[in-house]
Amino acid sequence: MVHDRTKRSQRKTRIPTNLKKRKSAAKDKKSGEIKCGIKSCDGFSDKHMGGRSISQDDAIDVWGESGFEVRKGRVRICKSCYRIMKKEKKDDNHY
Ligand SMILES: [Zn+2]
Repeated sequence: MVHDRTKRSQRKTRIPTNLKKRKSAAKDKKSGEIKCGIKSCDGFSDKHMGGRSISQDDAIDVWGESGFEVRKGRVRICKSCYRIMKKEKKDDNHY
């Protein structure tokens, strides 16, 4: 029989809370974060920059089937690409 219980004094280990300092991620969000879905374009499609999300069908009409990248079923395009698309669509509407 083992009867050897030593009394262990439990010491409270205190971890200084100020060790974990939260790094305030003060990133400049002036430029875009979401790249334009059109492969030949390197603009940004962020909302605050006038970006839009369009349907794949619309994108295919203007840039062809492999000219863009699809995200969650939508194509995010930048402002200037949106304008290109609108123009293309207009030309298409003469019937
Ligand atoms: Zn673009």
